[in-house]
This record gives sequence, C-alpha cells and structure tokens, in this order.
Amino acid sequence: MGAALAGLCAVIGPLLLGAFTMLYTGRPAVGFLATGATLGIAILAADAWIIARRQWVTLGLALATHVAFLLFLKGYSASPFPVGASLSDPVPQASPPAEMALYVLPTGVNHRTAAFARRGGSPWEKWESVSNAVLVEHPQGDVLIDAGPGRTIRSQSGAMPRLFRLATDLEQSRPAADQLAAAGYDFKHLRFILLTHAHWDHVSGVRDLPSVPVLVTSAEHRFIYQSGFPNAAARAIDPKRFQEYGFDGGRYLGFDHSHDLYGDGSITIVPAPGHTPGSVVVFVTLPSGARYAFVGDLVWQLEGLIQREERPWLEARMLGEDPVAVQESMRRLSAIAARFPQIRIVASHDPRGYVGIPQWLPSGVP
Ligand SMILES: [Zn+2]
Ligand SMILES: [Zn+2]
Repeated sequence: MGAALAGLCAVIGPLLLGAFTMLYTGRPAVGFLATGATLGIAILAADAWIIARRQWVTLGLALATHVAFLLFLKGYSASPFPVGASLSDPVPQASPPAEMALYVLPTGVNHRTAAFARRGGSPWEKWESVSNAVLVEHPQGDVLIDAGPGRTIRSQSGAMPRLFRLATDLEQSRPAADQLAAAGYDFKHLRFILLTHAHWDHVSGVRDLPSVPVLVTSAEHRFIYQSGFPNAAARAIDPKRFQEYGFDGGRYLGFDHSHDLYGDGSITIVPAPGHTPGSVVVFVTLPSGARYAFVGDLVWQLEGLIQREERPWLEARMLGEDPVAVQESMRRLSAIAARFPQIRIVASHDPRGYVGIPQWLPSGVP
C-alpha cells in the first residue's frame, strides 16, 4: 500500500502540481498555493521513499513526469526575443476634429498574477487585469473600442471549460451599455463597435447594444465561427451585425497597411495578427495632439512589449496563438514604443495604460 501511494505521488504528483501552478498564477487563491506547496513536499518525500527502496521502474516513470513539470515551468521563465529593426517612419498626419473626446468605461477586473501575463512575470506579483470599453466621441459617429463584460457575462462564463472557470476570478463592474445610459448617453450617436479582437472578454457586452454594427477584419470574422471557447460569446452575436473592413490605406508607423476610419487620421486601424488571426491595433489621435495605440491583447502587460516577452507557453497554446505572428506584431509595436514614447500604448488588460483617460461615468453617479 505504501509503495503504491509513494509511486503514485512521485509519478502523478508533478502533473497535478503543474495544474495547481496554472490555477494559482491565473487566480492567486491561498487554497491553490497551500495545496501546491503540500503536494510539492509530498512529492519530495515520495521521491526519497522510492530511491531508498531502489524501486527503479517507478523512479524512471517519476523522472519522466518530473522533467515534464520542469519543462512546463520553463514556459513561464523569461525568454526575450531579439530586437527588430528600428522605426524610421514619421508621426502620421492627422486632423482630428475639435469635438473629439476619449473616455474609458471600466467593466471588470480579473485578479491574476504577472506570471500569468508574460514570460518572466513573478507569481508573487498581483496583476489587476482590467477589462474596459473605450468610447471615442467623433462628429462622424462615436466608436466603442471593445465592449468588455456585459449583462450576460455570468451565463457566458458558465459555458466555459471547468479548468478555465476555476482559474478565473472576474469581478464585474457595471456593463458598458448601463454606464452609457446612466450618464444620459444618446445612443443614436454610437455608430460602431470596433473590436480589437473577438475574445469573450472583449465582446460580451456587444449584445447589450443590439442595433450597433460591429466592425471586424475578414480574418477575425472567419475566426469567430471556428470552434473554441474564447470566441463562443462572439458566435452568439447576431451574424448580421458584423461589418468587415479592409486595409485600404498605406504604411502607418511600420505597419504595411492601414485603415483610416473617418478619413481624418483620428482613428486608424492596422492589422496585428497573432493573438487571434484578425487582431488589430487602433491608433487614436485627439485634437490636443495626444496619441494612443489600443493594442488589444497583443500583450497583457506593458512589460511584454518593453521586455519583448510573450505570454507563457501554456496560455499561448490554450488560446491557439500563432507564435511567429505574435512576435512580428510585438516587434512592430516595440519599435513604436522605443521611437515614439509620446504615443500611449494601451494594452487592454493593463490598468497603467488608462491613467489620465477620463472615465465616462463620473464617480458618484448612481
Ligand atoms: Zn484575447
Ligand atoms: Zn482580453
């Protein structure tokens, strides 16, 4: 009995420890940490037990799962990719109309760790992974960049895989549609919802704004109807609402093609595939001269771009990312960040990108 238990612990234990590592980095709960630590001690004790009794077959199997666990951990370690070519493009021309304005609508926070966000991130550093919608007011029609968690997020989350739900601790705020209504927004001004990409946490609130067209690239439109839980919420949106656009414009800050939404350079979209096939970066220029790059989930934390660190191996594989395309898109954004520090990079889930952008709903509004 003792031999069977020690063998099981030494062989299967490392696989369970990998699962608890994933759970803790995604949702730093004390229970996951305590269970993982206890399991780690039990594995070491089991190792010592089977070595002392010279159970070589069990030890061989245990060695295989121990190595697998160490390789899995390596997927979280720092591994910066090489620097790309520097950028020589000038700052693009823009004539944003004086009536333009930019607001953030905080719609939720996931409590995670930096180890979940990027390779080299610490499991002991908490990361408040915000989920926001961004409203761009423009005289040709307002644009909502992503919609954040909406009124139906609970049922959408309930349909996610069990392991994903266990590793996710979403604290929802008021949905974007309700925030707009609470401050007396005139919904007929809202012309488009523009998606950085079609993952659940960016499209959930789209259904709360039922008559607004949803702008997507053709690649992202196809991706929506492929299987996969991260894009299931997008599949539930009325298909007639999706409106494709093409990259009919020229070079823009190192990207070969672009799309100038209103022809005045105030909202320019470029393709940045990798996280999903049709992910984009949305550049917004305000009449004050302030410039923003809404990069969606190209990186989850700004350090990803500055230190050239991708998402950890497990997260990237679970999301089905294209690693070559991710690196290429990240290189282009890194070059922009290095040459034009005045362009504010806003990674969707990094709260630091939104500092200074006013909230749509002033504090105190019920
Ligand atoms: Zn995403
Ligand atoms: Zn996201």
